[in-house]
Amino acid sequence: MKQNPIVFITGGSRGIGAAIARRAAASGFDIWLNYRSNHEAAAKVCNDVEKIGRICTLLPFDVSDEEGMMAALEPLLAEVTPFGFIHNAGITRDGLVALMNRKDWDLVLDVHLTGFFLLSRIMVKAMLPMRQGRIIAISSLSGETGQSGQFNYAAAKAGMIGAAKSLAREVARRNILVNVVSPGLIETEMIKDLPLDDMVAGIPLGRVGRAEEVAGVVNFLLGPEAGYITGQVISVNGGLYM
Ligand code: NDP
Repeated sequence: MKQNPIVFITGGSRGIGAAIARRAAASGFDIWLNYRSNHEAAAKVCNDVEKIGRICTLLPFDVSDEEGMMAALEPLLAEVTPFGFIHNAGITRDGLVALMNRKDWDLVLDVHLTGFFLLSRIMVKAMLPMRQGRIIAISSLSGETGQSGQFNYAAAKAGMIGAAKSLAREVARRNILVNVVSPGLIETEMIKDLPLDDMVAGIPLGRVGRAEEVAGVVNFLLGPEAGYITGQVISVNGGLYM
């Protein structure tokens, strides 16, 4: 029996990652679904993936924990290599830099940037001999423009853009395409405490975005029509930054 290609998504239990998993499954991918601790939410996403006839493998680990990720991924990678890897897991620890503690700096850098490094290293090693693959980093508008109160988060997200472009150059000859999707304000739990009414006034499209609108772009980048796109940052932000 022919196996479906696999997409490995970090932070897939909720929000944008969950929407990416559902969309990729609808396009015919089996899913490796990473998350940190919300087993119930992750199980629901897997259930949706399975309902449309795809296989979903739950991979709970902290993306900044090298040992944990190796224990989870090594046995799977011994059998099969995913076609796509999407680093989407994310957290915020916002605060003015004068008051920001070292822990909140380290934590945010670890999840976004170190996680991207550690997982890209593992995935690229597996993809190189296959001579195919798609890697997509979920960055943020903050990483493109900077954002007051997000010294840590903006630095991590900007770092992901530099890292992705470097990787894109490194692996292009092996037909591995690396791109960045950079969302603006997207309605998920991550932004639930922000003063959205005030913020929406500054968005040309006049509304926050939906996770599905980010997932659609990721899905395009996973597909055959994106075969000549690498090293790009694609913003999904309602025109907030042009
Ligand atoms: P959510 O808070 O809704 O979901 C975060 C996801 O990341 C969850 O699945 C969570 O798992 C997982 N996660 C968090 N920390 C870790 C970790 N250490 N290891 C593994 N998984 C982890 O976030 P969004 O869906 O809003 O955000 C997704 C991505 O999009 C993030 O990278 C974010 O920075 C980026 N983004 C979001 C924007 C927005 O407006 N929402 C705007 C721009 C960028 P669990 O459920 O187990 O906690």
